[in-house]
Amino acid sequence: MEPRHQLLAFILLTHTLTTLTWLIGGAVMGLSRRAARHWMLSSLTNGLALVLLVVDQFGGDTWRVLVSATLATWGAMGLRRGLQAFLRLPTRDLLQWAVLVSLTIWTLGICLPFGWVKAGALTAVVVSILILSLSARQTFPALYTEFDKTTAWVCAAVHMLAATMFVAIAVVSLGWVPGAEGAPYTIETLKFWVVFLSVSLSVVGCFVLGYVVIMRLVRRLEYLSEHDALTGLLNRRAIEALMDKEAQRLHRFGDPFALLLIDVDHFKRINDRLGHAAGDMVLSAVAAVLQSQAREVDHVARFGGEEFCVLLPRTDVEGALQAAERFREAVLHTVVPWAEENISVTVSVGLASTHDPGEALHGILRRADEALYRAKGEGRNRVVAAQIRRAA
Ligand code: GH3
Ligand code: MG
Ligand code: MG
Repeated sequence: MEPRHQLLAFILLTHTLTTLTWLIGGAVMGLSRRAARHWMLSSLTNGLALVLLVVDQFGGDTWRVLVSATLATWGAMGLRRGLQAFLRLPTRDLLQWAVLVSLTIWTLGICLPFGWVKAGALTAVVVSILILSLSARQTFPALYTEFDKTTAWVCAAVHMLAATMFVAIAVVSLGWVPGAEGAPYTIETLKFWVVFLSVSLSVVGCFVLGYVVIMRLVRRLEYLSEHDALTGLLNRRAIEALMDKEAQRLHRFGDPFALLLIDVDHFKRINDRLGHAAGDMVLSAVAAVLQSQAREVDHVARFGGEEFCVLLPRTDVEGALQAAERFREAVLHTVVPWAEENISVTVSVGLASTHDPGEALHGILRRADEALYRAKGEGRNRVVAAQIRRAA
């Protein structure tokens, strides 16, 4: 098999795979649908552009170079529009379409009939480089914020390498290789390597895009598995994992911590009188108040039903009592507007703090629960601290 044929097979294989990946990922699996559609078209047009550069027995050079350059520009725009859709960045649809349509009219409607291959191809290369540079600049901060520095830099690097490949392809396919006469390489081998590197870069780009799509999905699943759907607070599973960490810290460094179990008083009455929707609204409002009163290092969770839990790291009983009073008072002064009335609620708080590395987590929780039970029994809307268990 000739190297040219091997290259052709490589392009067809990789680009069919990447195009199918985005087709299946977007249309069948529903992963970032709009972005996947743009990336599928980008992969398809890039693949065709590269194929046109390699098959040189179909027609003259002029149309192949011009069609290839035009398709590659559409591919660059597809990459950009896909990233804009994925990162929910503002798009200027009209301008982007105007750029693509004008470029196509210029390259295929004017340069092709007049045989201005260099003018047409160079315009396409310049426009593609502009599209890629703008895309790299626009997407960097969004990728940095949502993912991390490395992901943002890798994406920017893929953009810039793609722009470099555009220049390299233009140089070899327009016959502008300096010193090719008598040089230790032929135009054909140069062309082979430039196209080979472009195809490889295109595959790497597809992997990078696939990585960010999957990472977003993983983070979303992580978020859902750790947060409560109604209030947006941490759920029981997540707070229990954090309590476990605090218990380990106490064991290792002797850092005390405290737990508050906070239960809405007579909540059932609200549900019974005003309905579940009103009850849900009250729960969301209480959750927001608790979250706003917590320090950055504290963790607020919905423990279940109308019961919340606050984990206070490095806090002794006095500090925890102050925090609990702050939470109770903040809820007391909150009103939740509902239909014609303002709903007021109170909470009872059971507090348990520990300095004892030997105390099991379920023991601390049981003490907080008993304290909450006493707060309810003593008339509600109050804070009760559990007896501190002294180290043996
Ligand atoms: P107490 O002062 O003794 O805590 O009385 P209470 O009415 O708050 O306590 P009880 O345990 O009798 O009732 C809790 C109610 O919370 C019963 C349940 O229907 C309601 N509830 C639990 N989860 C939700 C929820 O997600 N939304 C709404 N609207 N209600 C919920
Ligand atoms: Mg209650
Ligand atoms: Mg309850």
